[in-house]
Amino acid sequence: MRILVLFRRDLRLLDHPALAEAARDGEIVCGYIKKESLTSAHDYWTMAHVADIKQALNREDVPFLLGEGSVVEQVNAWCDRYDIDAVYFNRSYLHDEIEREDDLIDSLENKGIKTKRFVGDVLAKPGSVLTGKGEYYKVFTPFYKALRQKPLIEPVKKPTTFSGLSIESDDIAFKEPAWFKKLLNHYTPGEHVAIEQLNTFLEQALSRYSEGRDRPARKDTSHLSVYLSVGAISPRVIYQAVMAYDEVGPRVDKEKEAFIRQLMWRDFSYQQLYQHKEAETKAMREEFDRFNWENNQAEIERWKKGQTGYPLVDAGMRELYETGYMHNRVRMVVASFLVKHLLVDWRVGLDYFEHTLLDHDRQNNALGWQWVMGSGFDASPYFRIFNPITQAEKFDPDGDYIKRFVPELRQLSGQALFRPFEADEAELKRFGVVLGEDYPHPIVDHKSARERALSRYQEIKEASS
Ligand SMILES: Cc1cc2nc3c(=O)[nH]c(=O)nc-3n(C[C@H](O)[C@H](O)[C@H](O)COP(=O)(O)OP(=O)(O)OC[C@H]3O[C@@H](n4cnc5c(N)ncnc54)[C@H](O)[C@@H]3O)c2cc1C
Repeated sequence: MRILVLFRRDLRLLDHPALAEAARDGEIVCGYIKKESLTSAHDYWTMAHVADIKQALNREDVPFLLGEGSVVEQVNAWCDRYDIDAVYFNRSYLHDEIEREDDLIDSLENKGIKTKRFVGDVLAKPGSVLTGKGEYYKVFTPFYKALRQKPLIEPVKKPTTFSGLSIESDDIAFKEPAWFKKLLNHYTPGEHVAIEQLNTFLEQALSRYSEGRDRPARKDTSHLSVYLSVGAISPRVIYQAVMAYDEVGPRVDKEKEAFIRQLMWRDFSYQQLYQHKEAETKAMREEFDRFNWENNQAEIERWKKGQTGYPLVDAGMRELYETGYMHNRVRMVVASFLVKHLLVDWRVGLDYFEHTLLDHDRQNNALGWQWVMGSGFDASPYFRIFNPITQAEKFDPDGDYIKRFVPELRQLSGQALFRPFEADEAELKRFGVVLGEDYPHPIVDHKSARERALSRYQEIKEASS
């Protein structure tokens, strides 16, 4: 049988159910359909992984095709040109992609071409973890407890032998812009790099994860999101490796559990977006769609550039710009600052993250913003407004993270670093900082911004009661 394996956000050989079965069932060719125009960091990051997987498959004598545009048209064209008998792929859990998969299946089956859809990149299929009443969980902790009790899907092995069709591979030629190349100084694409990253994390950081994961200055989280986002590694492989990690003892067990819990947030997001397909564009609690935003363009630009005058917010936005990644704790702080201190529509932040994050993931991004906004079902309540100063004092106590990304404040320490706007002018000057010249005055006053946000929230609460 001549089989086409369609790759999407699963750019790997290990634990690729469609590839594993195709390698058993017949002769194969693999293909990927790229976006017509590449614009975001994640788009280029994806293409770097497409190039990596092509090389890996070619080493096994499996040809690789690169298409563009409509999935239905491109796959049908390949099937006609190469006389394909069957198309295999791993499923998506995003509704627009599911519709495209359904159209593809209809079009192929009409021509007598077989199709097989395999499990996508989750620990448990959305819809398979339900409450006693057979409903989706709305809140993470009971979802996590239920998922913890469930036998999870086992990863599948990388095929040991492949039989490739005799087809010429396409070139993967795309021009990486200079701004993207700069991000590659921080993250290297590739399935083998993802596996190495997992092993490094297990050996060097897992044992202090529960405390370290909230410290942006440390490298105590796995940074595996960048690889998960393109499917260079699967969540099942990560889960299995963590559980099997051979260092044992109650302390390590606690750390493993803390990490697995975090990994399961990803499955929770996938399940939530599977159930609420509009959660990328609409507030899950609909009263939040009536929120009276300021959306001040000049302020949005200052937020994006890391020029708000709040050192932790600025460090986070500059980390994102410089590296394509931002620490989770800081994502929460900058997102809260945008939607609550500046009263900017959460979708502005969602779009900016989509454009700039290497690890952009539609489900995690949507749920992350809805969580911060307070508009998700399991979300931080709106009235919980992160104080960007105390967050810095608590989670970056030595100021190392701020100093790394806001170099103009590097000479400062203690309160002057966390609250330069309250420091003595002469003292700041001694360390080379003149507010308004070297570093901005705060864009808003924390206390009044907090009160303004709470009163806007009160408006939607009253309108909906
Ligand atoms: C506003 C906002 C936007 C976000 N956008 C994205 C996004 O586009 N892509 C993305 O992958 N994550 C997103 N997150 C979630 C989280 O910030 C990242 O998954 C995490 O920082 C990735 O770093 P890590 O791999 O080192 O995490 P680790 O702490 O090592 O965690 C391991 C894995 O668990 C999962 N995970 C951890 N925390 C979360 C979480 N809060 N929600 C869902 N999954 C989680 C991720 O897959 C992560 O790779 C967002 C969070 C917020 C608050």
